[in-house]
Amino acid sequence: MIIGSHVSFGSEQLLGSVKEALSYKANTFMFYTGAPQNTLRKKIDEKLTKEAQKLMKENGINLQNVICHAPYIINLANKKDEEKWDFSIHFLEQELKRCDELGISYLVLHPGSAVGYPVNEALQNIVDALNIVLEKNYQCMILLETMAGKGTECGKTLEEMAFLLKNVKKQVGVCLDTCHLNDAGYDMNRFMEFLENFDRQIGLEKIKCVHINDSKNSLDSHKDRHANIGYGTIGFQVLLQICLNEKLKDVPKILETPYVGDTWEAKEKKYPPYLFEIAMIREGKFNDHLLDSILSYYNK
Ligand code: FE
Ligand code: FE
Ligand code: ZN
Repeated sequence: MIIGSHVSFGSEQLLGSVKEALSYKANTFMFYTGAPQNTLRKKIDEKLTKEAQKLMKENGINLQNVICHAPYIINLANKKDEEKWDFSIHFLEQELKRCDELGISYLVLHPGSAVGYPVNEALQNIVDALNIVLEKNYQCMILLETMAGKGTECGKTLEEMAFLLKNVKKQVGVCLDTCHLNDAGYDMNRFMEFLENFDRQIGLEKIKCVHINDSKNSLDSHKDRHANIGYGTIGFQVLLQICLNEKLKDVPKILETPYVGDTWEAKEKKYPPYLFEIAMIREGKFNDHLLDSILSYYNK
């Protein structure tokens, strides 16, 4: 199973990300090239990149399976302010260039939020923007993420995703997110049925990444709040079966579950759950003392 989590990309850039992933016993990972909420980015350091790739090789992490995530503030759907739309396009191009420098094959992108636009126009804005960006022939492929439909988010139904994929001129792929799918109204208890539906409308081969998250909210809630694996409304067994699905066997699984605090209710969240969540999934056994395990490990 190819499984990892979201990790940071700090002062050591990709090298720091690899070290963090290894601390979770992961064989892949996902990172942002800077803070997800802003567009401040440092130049990619070639030496750190080489060291990172070497460390990956030594530890059996295949660079092909490593994922980058674009920042949230890129919004290709809203063209009301043309300058902002252009900025999003330009930033996405820069991000793809950085991925190429790092040797990363996939960049996950939220399709965008319609804001004042009717959905069909917003979708067309996304297609137009992607067609401008893809003209430049980057090595790295964009993966559009399925969204929860919070606010005016686009990409909350398979029909919307199919429209996007059919109308972009070059290849883009898809990143599924189990929390988002649940919140968008797709029942993860019926995942096989969902995959058949996906295959009919889009094609299974387009799925290049799956975000494995539990959800704090119920089916069709349109909320998008991730829960720890087995501690939300989707549940451990359902998420485990998705991880084990034969059809997605070669697709990297990425956890984006929340950090935990000293209690489940604590406001300050400081401990990553990934070492223990990955272990649960690999062992196929739910840990009903997840919080205790994490706290005793990081306070050791
Ligand atoms: Fe995302
Ligand atoms: Fe996600
Ligand atoms: Zn989310």
